[in-house]
Amino acid sequence: MTAIAFIGLGNMGGPMAANLVKAGHKVSGFDLAPASLEAAAKAGVGIGASAAEIAAAADVIVTMLPAGKHVIAVLTDILPRVKKGALVIDSSTIDFDNARKAHAMAAERGCLFVDAPVSGGTGGAGAGTLTFMCGGDAEAFAAAGPYLENMGKRVVHCGGAGAGQAAKICNNMILGATMIATAEAFALGEKLGLTAQSLFDVVSTSSGQSWSTTSYCPVAGPVPAAPSNHGYKPGFASALMLKDLRLSQEAAAGAGAATPMGALATQIYAMHNAAGGAGADFSGIIRMLRGKGE
Ligand code: NAD
Repeated sequence: MTAIAFIGLGNMGGPMAANLVKAGHKVSGFDLAPASLEAAAKAGVGIGASAAEIAAAADVIVTMLPAGKHVIAVLTDILPRVKKGALVIDSSTIDFDNARKAHAMAAERGCLFVDAPVSGGTGGAGAGTLTFMCGGDAEAFAAAGPYLENMGKRVVHCGGAGAGQAAKICNNMILGATMIATAEAFALGEKLGLTAQSLFDVVSTSSGQSWSTTSYCPVAGPVPAAPSNHGYKPGFASALMLKDLRLSQEAAAGAGAATPMGALATQIYAMHNAAGGAGADFSGIIRMLRGKGE
């Protein structure tokens, strides 16, 4: 049993903290939102008075926060009180530069640090089937492994500081672009008189296949668990897809990489979200492509 402090108990962090409790750890949590604290307490998470208080008593600290600025603010607050040698895991999706800054801040305090963003969404967080993409040195990655395995089914060491975030934004840039291409094809198929099921049966076993079709088909019917069958309730909200696409474009600009498809996907999701789609699942982009709006 390890004393774990979990900071950020929202849609993802709440169920992840609950899985650490289920694995037998003593988990203390903190969040700014009272509703998140209440839900976490019901799952057996001990509630602390502040992030710094619970972090000071912990051997492992996990953060699951909205963006880079929140992670840096929380680390600035807690690190002066964190035990030297403690392990810090940041599972938020954040920009590459702040991820590297977070590593440097933790190293200065004598802590191990892993950037470990996730794929798998709220369903994966609840079921403990997340994929973790990790960046950090071998010692930190080895120390984090057992805790990540309590919350996920696949843990990949992608490289040094920031490598987890790099893998995450590359993956989600592919996802954004393939979802738009898939939605366009299904909307075109409708206009040409194809049923969703017939197009699905072809694409899911042909060269146009991707996760956006086989696991998350943007048209209701072929994949019963997909948000398209549930009024495009997220799932993975369009706002978060746009966040990740913007992170990919920031990283591409910094690295001097050409990502024209990623840039176009960013613009299309920006348009979709500005037209009212931000809170819906990102597969709901098909409604804009059909010209029917939200
Ligand atoms: P969320 O908004 O539900 O949760 C974030 C929580 O952080 C909130 O409860 C908020 O109150 C809390 N918070 C903010 N600042 C804080 C502070 N200073 N101290 C303590 N708590 C603070 O977001 P989420 O959906 O849980 O996502 C968390 C991260 O995971 C994001 O970086 C997101 O991009 C990433 N992510 C989300 C999904 C998804 O499907 N929701 C999938 C993969 C990755």
